[in-house]
Amino acid sequence: MSDFGISALYEGSSKHRWVVTCPSCEKEDELDFFRHVVKRSGAPGGGWEPVDEDRAASSAEGDLRAMCDECGAPLDRGAGRWLALHPERQRRGFHISKLMDGSTPVRGIWEQFREAQDDPKLLQRFYNAVLGLPYSPEGGKLTLALVKSRRFRYADLSSRFWGSVRTMGIDVGSPSKVVVSDLVEGQQRRDLEEALGRPWKRQEQGPAHDPELDAKPKEEQRPRALRRLLGAWEVRSLAEVDRLVERFRPRCICIDALPEIEATIAARKRWGALIGGAGRVWRVQYLFDQVREIGLDHSSGLAKVDRTYLLDLSARDWQDGYRVCPSNVEELVRGAYVQELLVPTRVEEETSRGIPVFRWTKGKDHFFHADAYDRLAAELCRHGQVTGEQSRAFEGL
Ligand SMILES: [Zn+2]
Repeated sequence: MSDFGISALYEGSSKHRWVVTCPSCEKEDELDFFRHVVKRSGAPGGGWEPVDEDRAASSAEGDLRAMCDECGAPLDRGAGRWLALHPERQRRGFHISKLMDGSTPVRGIWEQFREAQDDPKLLQRFYNAVLGLPYSPEGGKLTLALVKSRRFRYADLSSRFWGSVRTMGIDVGSPSKVVVSDLVEGQQRRDLEEALGRPWKRQEQGPAHDPELDAKPKEEQRPRALRRLLGAWEVRSLAEVDRLVERFRPRCICIDALPEIEATIAARKRWGALIGGAGRVWRVQYLFDQVREIGLDHSSGLAKVDRTYLLDLSARDWQDGYRVCPSNVEELVRGAYVQELLVPTRVEEETSRGIPVFRWTKGKDHFFHADAYDRLAAELCRHGQVTGEQSRAFEGL
């Protein structure tokens, strides 16, 4: 847990961190296992891999190295200094990790981490004892490195890559946040996967092959939707969303039902008229019931879904490589899109009856939710829950 015990004491302290200077580009940075030693594998469900690709396969070349995330040069882990984030605070607190001891082999740390992947208890011990960090469970947070690893230069591909099913997610607030994506399907998907260097076997017919799904029965073999972020916007009123709806013509729009109940009901009518029916616009209400299903009321256009369940679905698309974003993702909405995506942390809590539950923490995280509503819109398209004048089959999305 992040907010209790030693971790909370450290949070209120001077927060001394071990910083090292890159010998090549001279960037000074806190030594960080999740940026300098490991990275998310590009393959869906591929987990983690060492940043030091040259030495990843074999120990014959020597120990794994911590690598600068700016220029890729090896870092000298031991040659650093203590830097306080809050030098003015009375209580001194030092973040100590085995990584900063240059005589502890990185390969041993990496192997401990790899072996702990499927065992939450081992993983917790690894976070606490090896990295000196509070444990956040798998899928605990999106990181800048992860989002950057999903960037893709769309212009490199032909216009064939424009997906045919578009979705929109809106988080209502002042300002409201809007996210638009499309589902990449069929031949476009296979071409995009190939361009992304996915180690998936190509098939001439049928859906793209996903090794994870092989063991499952036939009807469950539809691959997860591959979704491409088209853009993100900030708007001062829902009326301003109208022009985005006209421009992108999404097949499905999801917007949070609260707190602007009347405004979202009116918007549903307006946008429905633009895109082929109010059945394509869903108002979303978060529940806290830990039920992993989406409850739909077609007459009122209300979709009820457990908050953690939906946010998990959305975050896992990033983590597992089913979400790709434009190469300028860090510039969207003057950086706010990525910033807000990285705010929430998935933490474990206990209910009043002592039952452990997971939840995503709150904060300035509006785009994280707009992204999740957009994800829900894709899910509703996929399951044929979007009514309207189209008759297109959704098979294979
Ligand atoms: Zn560097």
